[in-house]
Amino acid sequence: MASDTRRLRVGIIGGGLAGAGVANALIQSPHLDVHVFESAPEFSERGAAIGLSANAQLALKEITPSAEDLMKKAGGVPMNSSRIMVGSGEQAGTLILDLAGTGMDPGIIFRRASLLRELLAPLPQDVLHPNKRLDAITPQDDGSVAVSFADGTVHTFDAVIGADGIFSSVRSHVLGKQAAKHAATPGGFWDARALVSLDKAKATLGEDLFELDRQYGWAGDGAFIMHDVLEDRSLVQVLVSAVEHDHPKDRKRALTKDVLDAKFKNWPDIPVAKGVKELLLDEAEPVAWSQWEHKSTPTYANHHVCIVGDAAHATTPWQGAGAGQALEDAMILGALFSQVRSASDVAVAFKAFDAVRRPRAQQVIDSSRGTGAIMCGQDKELGLDATKLVGGLAPRWGFIFALSMADHKEQALAQLHEFQKRNGAS
Ligand SMILES: Cc1cc2nc3c(=O)[nH]c(=O)nc-3n(C[C@H](O)[C@H](O)[C@H](O)COP(=O)(O)OP(=O)(O)OC[C@H]3O[C@@H](n4cnc5c(N)ncnc54)[C@H](O)[C@@H]3O)c2cc1C
Repeated sequence: MASDTRRLRVGIIGGGLAGAGVANALIQSPHLDVHVFESAPEFSERGAAIGLSANAQLALKEITPSAEDLMKKAGGVPMNSSRIMVGSGEQAGTLILDLAGTGMDPGIIFRRASLLRELLAPLPQDVLHPNKRLDAITPQDDGSVAVSFADGTVHTFDAVIGADGIFSSVRSHVLGKQAAKHAATPGGFWDARALVSLDKAKATLGEDLFELDRQYGWAGDGAFIMHDVLEDRSLVQVLVSAVEHDHPKDRKRALTKDVLDAKFKNWPDIPVAKGVKELLLDEAEPVAWSQWEHKSTPTYANHHVCIVGDAAHATTPWQGAGAGQALEDAMILGALFSQVRSASDVAVAFKAFDAVRRPRAQQVIDSSRGTGAIMCGQDKELGLDATKLVGGLAPRWGFIFALSMADHKEQALAQLHEFQKRNGAS
């Protein structure tokens, strides 16, 4: 590892989308010596698709000058529209709303592994450290932080950023005694996903659903279906989400025909419902995952250590916004650390990060859970009435998409300067 003591040493724990995003933002500042530590033997993403909405794309453009090229190389498929339909009940098959029709950009869909691959590509190989599982974080008297890894090595940093996912060890350090009280808990839903070829999807779900590159969501009684096109139009993601009443301890349940039939008992046999069930059960090991979230988090920062991405604000996926929040985190840390020249400013930079990012991300978590309830027909007022659902759903994305990246950065920098002033005065 480089030992340039004139540069501020930054250790990022976790090499998922958040860790890679933050690293891209920080390497833009030559005064930072940035390293990413990943516990897995290689940097990789499992899972199916991920959508980057308008705000996520804007944040990515603030993070790296090569954002456009990166999204192209990652095989992103821009959606022409994102339609939400009624899936069950008297109005099954009725269009509720099309995001494109509301003036909101429906986003770009990626295969997860391809997006991570391209986010890692701009990073020098010698800053990426696989096979490095964080073991302990020990603050030192001089303000630096010693980070011990399971392989017995210890590295010292001026700033440590935890991007180690929903069950983050860095989060436990940051929250200390409050960690158990604010641990991730079930959000009330499960989901199951599969990636299939475009040809297979067309044959099973119907050609008409693929005339345009469009994301479709079907909101019905107790469950929700979605499908979208990705990986340069070669693949389709199909998914089912459903209300979860029992919460398996390991967050995982076998996905069987009985489970699906029970969830869809009140749905008519429309081709999309029949087809998606068929495609999911055709997987080698059909499995469904509980959706967990952070219902509250008292702080993202503790002196020279902070948390980002799912470590800070894991959310249910109903608004497709989790990774976008991680990219906004990265953008804000990039802006703050471009102005942090001395180790003595790290703690105030993390405090400023916490001040602007926590309210925003918590609003997304709370809104996402509510959106899930509506999509699964659980809102008593709206039910599965297409007209009422337009009113209930349309406004839910506005606050996510409308964020001005320039204002958000300005707010963070103003907060940093305020904290610096207060520190100077004391
Ligand atoms: C089903 C589903 C669908 C979603 N769809 C969307 C969407 O369409 N759009 C969107 O914006 N968001 C979406 N999200 C949210 C998004 O996937 C997450 O917010 C994002 O991937 C989180 O990235 P992360 O890097 O914070 O966490 P992770 O991806 O969990 O990465 C954490 C990394 O840290 C490593 N790690 C863990 N512990 C240690 C340790 N002790 N030492 C070193 N390394 C460690 C892990 O191996 C991993 O690589 C979805 C989420 C789910 C569950």
